[in-house]
Amino acid sequence: MIYYVNLDKFYKIVTAMKILQDLNVDLHTHSTASDGSITPSQLVNRAIENGVDILALTDHDTVSGIPEGLETASGTDLTFIPGVEVSTMWGGSCIHVLGLDVELNNVELKKALSLIQKGRFERAERINLALIKAGLPSILEHALSIAGSKGQIGRVHFARAMIQKNLCEDIRDVFSRYLVKGKPGFVAHEWPSLKTVINLILKANGLPVIAHPARYKLPNNWLTYLLEEFASLGGIGIEVATGSHSFADIERFKKISIEYDFKASRGSDFHSPSESRYDVGRAPYLPDCLLPIWASIGLRG
Ligand code: AMP
Ligand code: MN
Ligand code: MN
Ligand code: MN
Repeated sequence: MIYYVNLDKFYKIVTAMKILQDLNVDLHTHSTASDGSITPSQLVNRAIENGVDILALTDHDTVSGIPEGLETASGTDLTFIPGVEVSTMWGGSCIHVLGLDVELNNVELKKALSLIQKGRFERAERINLALIKAGLPSILEHALSIAGSKGQIGRVHFARAMIQKNLCEDIRDVFSRYLVKGKPGFVAHEWPSLKTVINLILKANGLPVIAHPARYKLPNNWLTYLLEEFASLGGIGIEVATGSHSFADIERFKKISIEYDFKASRGSDFHSPSESRYDVGRAPYLPDCLLPIWASIGLRG
């Protein structure tokens, strides 16, 4: 059989893909609205200084920083995408799902996020008690003051408070000694299920993306179950290039992204100039052969 290829059209598609792949896109960042250390407005300005073309603010379980980010980005060349990173529970693990390009005024999403916030305050009290039981002084008040009135309380605020009180040296030190599973300040917590969260993101017209898949350290068969379930629930993308991935992780999840037909995402997971591995817009680029998820955001207008 002979196939007639429209070469002109083909070259146009290839050129468009190359332009999309060469954009500096950062679809995973945090601000003071969650556990980042700079405001949404400072983050947007930092992204512009770093030559970012498309930026998503994806604070943990909140969209409260988005209006400030949108306002700072308006009138600039930066395309600002409203996003969120939602904590979910799947198979006993806490899996983070990014919701990209979500509608801010979706009532169900807002309600669900405010319930997660309440849960975070209740968890913070339990973390504090667990640390006291391990012989530490009460840290909750200090952690809350670091989180600020606009922020929400998380483990990073405890870590920063413990460093300021000279109880630990740096963030890594606090996490590995106190705040990860099996350590004295880690408490179990019920996040909403993966299914609930994917439904919420889809209903808010967002794109669900699995964040930093290598971080969960799932055995291969469990990872397969997770990815199959994520796809069947309507999951669209997977982070391939991200702050906590090694180059070997990028290679591994490049193959997985192709195998499962997931769109690939790139994000620094930037939290703070002094704490984060990559600055805004400085995570490694996606491997050339992958279909970037921002092509879908563009197509949605
Ligand atoms: P939370 O959502 O309050 O449970 O806190 C999760 C956040 O803690 C992540 O988004 C990271 O910012 C930070 N984090 C988690 N594990 C570590 C770790 N091992 N070292 C440093 N920061 C971590
Ligand atoms: Mn964080
Ligand atoms: Mn995360
Ligand atoms: Mn994150």
